[in-house]
Amino acid sequence: MPTDLKYLAVHTMTNKPWTLRQCVDAYSQAGIGGVSVWRNVIEPIGVDEAARMLKDSGMKVPALVRGGFFPAATSSDRQKAIDENRQIIDEAAAIGAEMVVLVVGAVPGMSLAEARKYVADGIGALLPQAVDRNIKLAIEPLHPMYAGDKSCINRMREAREVCEQLRSRMVGIAVDVYHVWWDPDLQAEIELAGKQHTLFGLHICDWRLNTRDLLTDRGLMGDGCIDINKICGWARAAGFKGLDEVEVFSDNYWAMDQDEYLKLIVERYQGLNV
Ligand code: ZN
Repeated sequence: MPTDLKYLAVHTMTNKPWTLRQCVDAYSQAGIGGVSVWRNVIEPIGVDEAARMLKDSGMKVPALVRGGFFPAATSSDRQKAIDENRQIIDEAAAIGAEMVVLVVGAVPGMSLAEARKYVADGIGALLPQAVDRNIKLAIEPLHPMYAGDKSCINRMREAREVCEQLRSRMVGIAVDVYHVWWDPDLQAEIELAGKQHTLFGLHICDWRLNTRDLLTDRGLMGDGCIDINKICGWARAAGFKGLDEVEVFSDNYWAMDQDEYLKLIVERYQGLNV
């Protein structure tokens, strides 16, 4: 039984050469259920037009990507990050997104423990606004290869600890298989996140063997070694009812004809058994 496309969402960054208009039109025509929007495609047209376009499409918008980057050496820089995130939460509300995905940040030379404290403080400062606008904040653990300067949260456990500290229905986790597939505690943490109602997002793609670039060489489902069916199965068993979001950064795929690439995305998605 092919996977129903109404459960599929695609991140605009997956089709980086396309504008938001092109993404929305192509995804709608393909019968894809949702689109997660990166801020770079809103920027050229403005939030109001993006909001209209998305509303007219009738597609779900699981996420606006991305906020975060809370740790900084000075309190004024940390405050700047919080202010920027406030704007992002407002943008998410304007376009009808369910959540903002947070890439939490890290600072070379600052201990990961200290950086995590600033992450909790930063998200805590945003909570009243997130509640008011009804926008969830999803912490995305990133693979430890990004621990130096992008994310001091690398495992599900570290994301959970921030959630447990803040104890808000608006704070949870975006599970990206690319980043956490290797985590020995993944199944247990997904189960726990289900129980704690913090399983907000599920990003799918694949880990290519012989990765050629740390950022722009992700695989499409089936290109690599991640057992996507198994991980998605754990999420479903834990009560996850959101969309499966395809998020692929890939110079290779960005160089393809994007219509052909979208066909391949759909084909690979339908080949899953999630
Ligand atoms: Zn992701």
